[in-house]
Amino acid sequence: MEEMELIQEIQTEEGTADLPRTMTDSRRFSCTLCGECCSGTMEVFLNPYDLYKMGRFLNMSHSIELFEKKLIEWAPGQNSLLLPKIRFKTEPFSFCPFLINDYQDELGLRGLCSLHPEHKPLVCHLAPLTRQIDLETGEDSFGFIPPHPDCPGCGRGEEIREDLVRKELKSELAHEMTYYQILSDRAEGHPEKIRGLFLFDLNKSFSVP
Ligand code: SF4
Ligand code: SF4
Repeated sequence: MEEMELIQEIQTEEGTADLPRTMTDSRRFSCTLCGECCSGTMEVFLNPYDLYKMGRFLNMSHSIELFEKKLIEWAPGQNSLLLPKIRFKTEPFSFCPFLINDYQDELGLRGLCSLHPEHKPLVCHLAPLTRQIDLETGEDSFGFIPPHPDCPGCGRGEEIREDLVRKELKSELAHEMTYYQILSDRAEGHPEKIRGLFLFDLNKSFSVP
């Protein structure tokens, strides 16, 4: 892989990824639980530790059960590699299977995540921050991009404190850095080995395979 920089675009809106999104100097954010970023054409790609957290939350013993239960599927992601992403429900419309209060609930569709907070995928936890990683230096930085073009939470509430985010998610950010470095190495001629990164025993403590 020749890219010096991996831009974390794990959560994207299919078909609109090339369109400009609202950028803002302010990092004020307060989620209104509107559910927009957990439904529709959003795509949520996952790192290995995300699978670990989800599987443990669901009392599974092996990560392959997430695929067998059709909560996760393989899809073309970074550099066209087949990577795991959340398999959204499609009836009567598209939304994440981890979203609480789906349309059948009289409360209607809302943005309550059943995995929140500690079992949530890192990309969802960081939003609206997006992470850029320089694999050569091991350095990273954060941008601020609304998780949905119409996100009403951006520009509201307190400024996001990047230092606090780094402190809270220190081990998860480290896991993800290791994952991207392994992904980069294995992608060179060994894409078939990438699947092994996501298949592991959930009864053991986590380490990037
Ligand atoms: S679109 Fe914004 S306000 Fe709505 S659920 Fe997502 S983060 Fe929260
Ligand atoms: S995992 Fe949670 S936060 Fe992420 S898309 Fe699904 S419901 Fe939304």
